[in-house]
Amino acid sequence: MRSSDGNDVCAVVLCGGTGSRTGLSYNKVLYAIGHKTLLEYVLDAFAKSCVSRVVIAANEADRRAVQALAASYENVCVVAGGDTRTRSVQNGLQAAAGCDIVVIHDGARPFVTPRLIDDTVRAAKAFGSGIAAVPAVDTVKEAENGVITKSLCRDKLWCMQTPQTFSYAQLCDAYAKTDGTFTDDAELFAAAGYTPHIVTGEYENKKITTPADLVVGAPAYTKIGTGFDVHPLCAGRELILGGVHIPHDKGLQGHSDADVLTHAVTDAILSAADLPDIGVLFPDTDPATEGIDSLLLLQDVCRRVSDLGYTVGNVSAVVLAQKPKLMPHIGAIRRSLCNVLQTDESRVNVSATTAEHLGIVGEEKGMAAGASCLLTYDPQHNSK
Ligand code: MG
Repeated sequence: MRSSDGNDVCAVVLCGGTGSRTGLSYNKVLYAIGHKTLLEYVLDAFAKSCVSRVVIAANEADRRAVQALAASYENVCVVAGGDTRTRSVQNGLQAAAGCDIVVIHDGARPFVTPRLIDDTVRAAKAFGSGIAAVPAVDTVKEAENGVITKSLCRDKLWCMQTPQTFSYAQLCDAYAKTDGTFTDDAELFAAAGYTPHIVTGEYENKKITTPADLVVGAPAYTKIGTGFDVHPLCAGRELILGGVHIPHDKGLQGHSDADVLTHAVTDAILSAADLPDIGVLFPDTDPATEGIDSLLLLQDVCRRVSDLGYTVGNVSAVVLAQKPKLMPHIGAIRRSLCNVLQTDESRVNVSATTAEHLGIVGEEKGMAAGASCLLTYDPQHNSK
């Protein structure tokens, strides 16, 4: 298949790695973040790019699983990977024969974008190569035996990524001319006398290498939830907000301790995790929850979402109350909620507002609270 300018662009996706450094017992390209494996993220990006066909180089052990995933994509085939990265690329290049431009990509860089792929292809058409790379963020130094021997000028340092895209003929020639070990194709291309041309990559285009990468490498997998609650005010009840007892001449009425703020926060978490809401999980007909401290319900919900692999990213909540002034209690409320959410105070914001004497809140007939919660999916959870 040829693109509009007559060039046939083929990608070689390297899936020869194992899960050893990520702590997985299987090839990390088969690891799922959300509902998709790393390899599917990659194949989806290529399907939306100018690349017309994809060759996947996979180990024999993973061949069947990779083939099963590839089957739902058009113009994707699987070839044998090699013992080394170099050998895998060579096998891929053979299968890509006949193309004009070849895109080499790591199967463990799932967050590559079609835009970046196309940028490298454009550069390869113009200059013979297009190597995705980002300017170094950290200061890099050389060291030997624990002692720094050389400081490198950061302005000139770039961190190499893939895609690394080349004129097919030039890359084949480079492979024919050189042997030895190269960490990437840009190095081999340069060793053969060609000029690798940099294309500015994306910091999100991380290679999944360590267990931490499985978490932070998953920007696509956070979930937001919303909760809202109202309770009537009446005399003779304690006013409890976020687990904190607040002096007032009235308190909130309900089956539990009627902590309207904690209920809104709990519902926001349940909503983000796509679980039934607080009224379903803890029905007000259950004698066991009569008068219960709502922080215990929140704690139970935190355990449920944690079991599913979620951690609380942050919570933002607002209480609507005409009286009393809540500002002096906000610090204690935040600390109380943080204690149950097992997170630090910067991640739990609580604000309060009056209702300008309007409606049930303004007329002091009740209080309301709203909350949003961001949950982060923690894939390590499943590999424990
Ligand atoms: Mg409630």
